Amino acid sequence: VATKQKARVDPPGVLADRLRVGPGFRLVDVEPRSTPGFDGGNADGQAALARGGKRLSEFQERLFAEGRSGGHRSVLLIVQGMDTSGKGGIVRHVVGAVDPQGVRHQAFGAPTEEELQHDFLWRVRRALPRAGQIGVFDRSHYEDVVVVRVNELVPRSTWQERYAQINGFEQSLADDGTTLIKVLLQISPAEQRERLASRLARPEKHWKYDPSDVEARLRWDDYQEAYQAVLDRCSTPDAPWYVVPADRKWYVRWAVQQLLLDVLEGLDPQWPKASFDVAVEKARLAATPG
Ligand code: AMP
Ligand code: MG
Repeated sequence: VATKQKARVDPPGVLADRLRVGPGFRLVDVEPRSTPGFDGGNADGQAALARGGKRLSEFQERLFAEGRSGGHRSVLLIVQGMDTSGKGGIVRHVVGAVDPQGVRHQAFGAPTEEELQHDFLWRVRRALPRAGQIGVFDRSHYEDVVVVRVNELVPRSTWQERYAQINGFEQSLADDGTTLIKVLLQISPAEQRERLASRLARPEKHWKYDPSDVEARLRWDDYQEAYQAVLDRCSTPDAPWYVVPADRKWYVRWAVQQLLLDVLEGLDPQWPKASFDVAVEKARLAATPG
């Protein structure tokens, strides 16, 4: 009887090294259907995701407990990618494994009138994770150098200055105790066409479809160029970018979960020591009626 081979999988730190954007990184070299660091298929991927969810949940609770006990550390996961690349799936299937109290989630769409009255980082500053929390951005300030650049929504000189502003902003977050993980979900145009078509085919998915998605498809190369510029200019030691092949939903979820786990393992938050005498409290409790 043949025993089923277990999937061979890179541990989190090794995977992070593989996916991290370094000098000379080229987005065009990424194969969206590939599954770096995971030698297995859909079923193995789902099983690995479920296992990782338990670990993630425990680490998150420890980070939360640390934050409640005076700790100031937090994590910020920034998720970018073309439409249908799976950003929402990360929120639901990866971050969804942890206690919602410990999560600060924010999706960023086209700015409101009020947001437009302020600098582009204003709305981002208001959505940052508090001590002990995991912040999750579904899109982010990077839209201000991607969609804004592609569609020429502000003068060139304005978006040109933003890369340095973003780096300064992210460095200050890192200095204040926030660990940033920035992931670009890299989907292929063919896979996106399939996913958009399947949204159109199902009435319960129509709410997810936006006619402007087709316009963005028509500017695919311009978006890739804008993302390449982001990777070239904003992947820093304290706020690195990771590019995750995204044509396979199970892979992208597993990979982002591993990146989060890697960061949390590195932070290694500890259960806080009791601020009271445990033996005394046990005795007091035992002495109460009922
Ligand atoms: P979705 O994430 O599918 O709900 O779509 C949100 C839309 O808002 C996308 O088309 C983004 O490109 C757009 N968006 C997000 N941030 C900005 C921004 N700063 N300026 C213009 N459009 C934006
Ligand atoms: Mg959309």
